[in-house]
Formats: sequence, structure tokens, C-alpha cells
Amino acid sequence: CGILAGKVAFVTGAGSGIGRATCRLLARDGAKVIAADRNLQAAQETANQLNGERATAAAVEVDVASLTSVQQAVAAALSIYKQAPSIVVNSAGITRDNYLLKMPERDYDDVYSVNLKGTFLVTQQLAKAMIEQQLQGGSIINLSSIVAKMNNVGQANYAATKAGVISLTEVASKELGKFGIRVNCILPGYIDTPMVAVVPDKIKEQVVQKCPLARLGKPEEIAEVIAFLASEKASYVTGAAIEVTGGLK
Ligand code: NAD
Repeated sequence: CGILAGKVAFVTGAGSGIGRATCRLLARDGAKVIAADRNLQAAQETANQLNGERATAAAVEVDVASLTSVQQAVAAALSIYKQAPSIVVNSAGITRDNYLLKMPERDYDDVYSVNLKGTFLVTQQLAKAMIEQQLQGGSIINLSSIVAKMNNVGQANYAATKAGVISLTEVASKELGKFGIRVNCILPGYIDTPMVAVVPDKIKEQVVQKCPLARLGKPEEIAEVIAFLASEKASYVTGAAIEVTGGLK
């Protein structure tokens, strides 16, 4: 039972942070979950936790930056539940912060390949699978970031990819709407996950001072909005970029 009963959800970055919390809440709402991550062991832990809670979950390995790897993961997902995922969450993401004048080309390319190209590849391959299976009511949710608007010093690569995710989301919503597929993105603020654990304490204190709710967010507070967008409660929401930041701008 649950509002997402009968649906399959494919979540990237599912081995940690927001991706893992999203798997838990989508499973809570009745979806069967594919936990996909480059770190298969971490994805397997997510799936094991859910199966321990009587949900249905399976782990697959994926490097979202590689078309071949994404195609293999999608094929694996289709064979596990014999049904195309109609919910897709692009949560895989990385940071490689550095000043523009010092940023190695490699760090620019890696962040681009995972955050922006990876979101594109997963969206493209899973939208194709949904259309082939003529699923009604697909929902794709991408993780942008408030950094797309704050444009922090030291994050030229990350900020540019997260701004790109907003544009990609909007184009995809226009192209996929006629197939009944909604595409939205979320701009989280600073959320307490392993990604933010490496941010220096001084910067986190500054963030908390600027934040109207005066704290970091929890991964579940992003996952709840994702669960809403995944569901038919959000049936008229597409092409949206939703800030979930505790008021941080
Ligand atoms: P996290 O570091 O906790 O988890 C990211 C996961 O992505 C990891 O499990 C990692 O193994 C996986 N991953 C990395 N590269 C991958 C690849 N090439 N293929 C497949 N999986 C890969 O991060 P998080 O905090 O949960 O962030 C999730 C998403 O939310 C990211 O896109 C991030 O940019 C975005 N975001 C996070 C915050 C925050 O404050 N934590 C804020 C704004 C946006």
C-alpha cells in the first residue's frame, strides 16, 4: 500500500546522503526501489536497510558519467522488476572545490561529467525506457543546488553544473510533457550529509548565520519534497526549480 504502490523508482547516488534518504521515503510510500551508485557496496547497504524494513529494494552499480554504464544499469533495473522505473531521482553528485585560477582541468571535467552529463544520460535512457513501455505518469527529479544561485567563490565547476541542471530540467520538461513525464529539480541549501561534512566548520557557521532557520537541513527534509514531486499530488508540477534551503538565499 502507499501512494507510490506499484511504481518502480530508480535513484542514483543512493549509497549516501540525500539519495539514501530518498530511497527510504519512496519505499515508505510504497515504491519498489532501485538503489544505484558508483559505490555498489554502499548502494547494497541502502537496499539491505530497506529490505530489513519490509520494503522492496535492490542495488545496481552505475557510473552516471558513462553512457555504457548507465545503459547496463537501466537494463539491470528492467530485469529486476520487469517494469520500467516511472520515478527517477538524479542524486549522484560530486564537488571538487578550488579557486578558478588553480582549478585543474580534471576537476572541472569530473564535476561536469557526474553532475550535468550524468543527469542528462540517466534522464535520457530512463525516459526512453518509460516511453517504450508506454508508462503513464512518469516523474524525474534532479538535484540542483542553491549554489547555482549563490555562485560561491571556489565552486566555479560545481555552480556551473548546478545552474546547468536547472536549464536541463526545464528543457526536458518541455520535451517530455507530451509523454506524461514531469521533470523538476530541487535546489537544496546546506544539508547534513557526507558531501557537506568536508566543508570547513567556519564556512558552515557562516551558512547557519545567514540561514533564517539557523541550522543545516537533514537529508529527509529534501527527500520529503522529492517524494511529493514523485507522487500524483504533484500532477501539475513540471519544469519547476524548488528551493529547499531553510530560507538561505
Ligand atoms: P553524498 O556525497 O552524500 O552522496 C553522493 C553519492 O553519489 C555517493 O553515494 C557517491 O558514491 C555517488 N556518486 C558519486 N559519483 C557518482 C557517479 N559517477 N555515478 C554514480 N554515483 C555516484 O552527497 P549528497 O549530499 O547526498 O548530495 C546528493 C545530491 O544533492 C548531489 O547532486 C549534490 O550535489 C546535491 N546537493 C547536496 C547538498 C548538500 O548540502 N548535501 C546541497 C545541494 C545539492
